Amino acid sequence: MGKKEKEFIVCPVCGSTDMCWLLGGKLGDQYKCIKCNYEGIAVKGNVQFAKEVRRKENIG
Ligand SMILES: [Zn+2]
Repeated sequence: MGKKEKEFIVCPVCGSTDMCWLLGGKLGDQYKCIKCNYEGIAVKGNVQFAKEVRRKENIG
């Protein structure tokens, strides 16, 4: 509490934070991942979260 961590837009597929905003709509903001070309809803998280997504990707 009180400690505000910076949030990033994270790709749910590859864990990259290189997301660019495409459009906003009823379903929410849509993003495109520069790394894997995923398009859709992005996840918000901190650096640690992004690392965890990447780690899962490596194992899977
Ligand atoms: Zn991606």
